[in-house]
Amino acid sequence: MITEFSPNLENFIQTFRTGTSGCYGMCDCGNEYFNVDENTNVWEDGELEDLMSRAEKTPEMVFPVEFSVDTLYEPTTAVPCKQYVTVCGCWIEEAETWMKRVDNWRPWITVYLNLEKKRMQQEAVALHTIEI
Ligand SMILES: [Zn+2]
Repeated sequence: MITEFSPNLENFIQTFRTGTSGCYGMCDCGNEYFNVDENTNVWEDGELEDLMSRAEKTPEMVFPVEFSVDTLYEPTTAVPCKQYVTVCGCWIEEAETWMKRVDNWRPWITVYLNLEKKRMQQEAVALHTIEI
């Protein structure tokens, strides 16, 4: 489990976060994370006890944490894409590959985005105004 990230990974997390968090999350790798905060009243009867029991039996796969569980998307075109639990860290190697790819292609990506902006502006100008 990783709770501190390098600045570039923090930017990656900020970019690809799902925007959802909660008391439980299962990472794409199969690891589970759950918030043991006693003020969290979202558990069904026995659910938290079951998670605690599984955390004791398989501490390498089930992790009690004391914070809300955040998730992030895999940057891909696959639908549905994978979702990772941020603190799992299993996604870091793949994220670094994506960051290197984007950094290496930055000049071409910049040209593409500017061309797309121009195209979209031309399309917007060509739209008819809807009269009331
Ligand atoms: Zn994982």
